[in-house]
Amino acid sequence: MSELYRNITEIFGEDVFNDTAMRERLPKKVYQSLRRAIEEGSELSLETADVIAHEMKEWAIERGATHYTHWFQPLTGATAEKHDSFISAPLPSGKVLMSLSGKELIKGEPDASSFPSGGLRATFEARGYTIWDCTSPAFVRHDEGGATLCIPTAFCSYTGEALDQKTPLLRSMEAVNKQAVRLLRLFGDDRTMSVTPSVGAEQEYFIIDREKYLKRMDLVFTGRTLFGAMPPKGQELDDHYFGTLRPRIAAYMKDVNEELWRLGVPAKTQHNEVAPAQHELAPIYEKANVAVDHNQIVMQTLKRVATRHGLRCLLHEKPFARVNGSGKHDNWSLTTDLGVNLLEPGRTPHENIQFLLILCCILKAVDEHADLLRESAADVGNEVRLGGNEAPPVIISVFLGTQLGDVLNQLISTGSATSSIGGGKLRTGVSYMTDVSRDATDRNRTSPFAFTGNKFEFRMVGSRDSIAGANTVLNTIVAEAFKEACDRLESSEDFAAAVHDLIKEYATRHSRIVFNGNGYSEEWVREAERRGLPNITNMVDAIPAITTEKSVELFEKFNVFSRIELESRAEVKYEAYSKAINIEARTMLHMAKRELIPAMIRYSGELAKTVTSVRGCGFDAEVSEKLLSDLLKYIREAQEACTVLERETDAAEEEPFGRTQAAAFRDHVVPAMDALRSPVDSAEQIVDRSFWPVPAYADLLFEV
Ligand code: ADP
Ligand code: MG
Repeated sequence: MSELYRNITEIFGEDVFNDTAMRERLPKKVYQSLRRAIEEGSELSLETADVIAHEMKEWAIERGATHYTHWFQPLTGATAEKHDSFISAPLPSGKVLMSLSGKELIKGEPDASSFPSGGLRATFEARGYTIWDCTSPAFVRHDEGGATLCIPTAFCSYTGEALDQKTPLLRSMEAVNKQAVRLLRLFGDDRTMSVTPSVGAEQEYFIIDREKYLKRMDLVFTGRTLFGAMPPKGQELDDHYFGTLRPRIAAYMKDVNEELWRLGVPAKTQHNEVAPAQHELAPIYEKANVAVDHNQIVMQTLKRVATRHGLRCLLHEKPFARVNGSGKHDNWSLTTDLGVNLLEPGRTPHENIQFLLILCCILKAVDEHADLLRESAADVGNEVRLGGNEAPPVIISVFLGTQLGDVLNQLISTGSATSSIGGGKLRTGVSYMTDVSRDATDRNRTSPFAFTGNKFEFRMVGSRDSIAGANTVLNTIVAEAFKEACDRLESSEDFAAAVHDLIKEYATRHSRIVFNGNGYSEEWVREAERRGLPNITNMVDAIPAITTEKSVELFEKFNVFSRIELESRAEVKYEAYSKAINIEARTMLHMAKRELIPAMIRYSGELAKTVTSVRGCGFDAEVSEKLLSDLLKYIREAQEACTVLERETDAAEEEPFGRTQAAAFRDHVVPAMDALRSPVDSAEQIVDRSFWPVPAYADLLFEV
């Protein structure tokens, strides 16, 4: 084996307190009760927790850790941590011990008042608790600050309301587990003890040079460019996609992979993406909550390693206008404890009744709660990406492909399916190449929710957003569909007949959600409207979906969210939207007034001199005069747009918090931002490059 390969197997999971570490370190009885807690959710005694904490600390110290942190995911979309060192109170000898108690492992109490809570917690009632999630392994992270033991936790208020992304996700996993097992029992399966959602999140990102990044206030403050004209070469040539990695990027990715492997993140695939400077990283799928944690680790690692390489990783959904944006493909399926994927159709799906029922339940779930799925992908950055002929449209539909689409049609027209279209062989026409078998279905890149062989791929989530929200919704809506099916089937006399009728009923009633065509086309927008599918074009209009009576009933039924939690989340989202737009608007004003308009004025002075001197020499000054008058026009327009933008932003800030304010930002500030950008971008195309004070798109995208 080569050095490198031996290294990968050796380093993988080296910094994770995983099963191997637990088994090695913990007394047998303690290990067994921890496993029971992980697998069956049984509670750990404080004595057991003390032993685990002690061993975890010893293990972490061996890896250089001086501090530990409860690592949690507040409603900011990112993670939060508060570091405590392991030192105990000084002993009489003046020395200290290093310790971590069971209590400290299990529960933490960060000052919660500065995290978004949507009114769940007034600032004077700042208590919030972090509670250890033993199903996601602790790990030691190495960075410039040394090494830290990170303990994945949930984050709740004093009164038990979820203040984070993880708690509802865990609740939703329990909901779908319970209903899926119930469904399997109906098919005579009494061996499966649990069903877990499996998730693999493909992460897109941009890499640019850090020096150039630091010169652009918009990138630094908002993560995206708020000004910028397109370079002469965009992504039209598609020469970058899947192309060879540039050396600097390859070195960066090597480091990223190594760090991720050490942290037990199964980073698997990497390649260039469609846009210049855009790339993708995909890990192998894992249990939903571990996948969510690992995706956060991926995002943090991408950023941290970039800094070390003199680069900057942009996770924003749309860092460059008119250049492809970044998303996150959330691959989702259901796996039993025996390792069976419930979304595996087999070679002859028409005969696989259990699969057909599950599939139809998912169609029903997505059709009935399309608005919730849409909302789960609503994020400020995603506003400028979704529906832009590069990302899925905002209309939720399901792609099934040729094979399953055909089975579904048979179900609808005759009540049962009798055949499945096969994939056949792919022949290259080259004699010495082996014929390979072909999938029964081609792909469709324009669908927001696509069946891809043995899983669904939800493609709408933003690149910067947590995938927790989307998976919480998916798990819960599918749990509901399973529950309704079980309620009906359990009370039926003739199971075979009842399941047949149910499949037909669901297939017929919810076939409107299936769409196999081009999701980017205008016809689809009209067709979707005809079918009555929601087309919710912006975040502010998407948010109300989570607080409808239907939504509250759904989430309360499965104890995923209470009404109060949902209402608070809506508030958090409105506030996040208003805050982000406010910062963008202020950043634009600052850049325009202090950097860009002054540069335009300086260059107009230069042009004016040229016009005079050219005239003085008796030459025709027409070209320079035209440039000058265009530029003066842009300067005037930009100045006027600044005045309007400033006025609108001030006014929006005065609006009452919540939906009203968010709508004011959307309706008045966003258009005013566009109106300022337009003349500045036009000016950028005529101003001498040496006068332009910030790096241009071409510098950022093509010079890494
Ligand atoms: P595709 O080519 O369809 O994008 P890949 O095999 O590259 O498929 O997988 C994309 C992502 O989907 C990866 O993160 C992968 O681990 C994940 N994935 C594969 N199978 C499943 C599954 N059964 N459930 C959830 N995610 C899966
Ligand atoms: Mg994919």
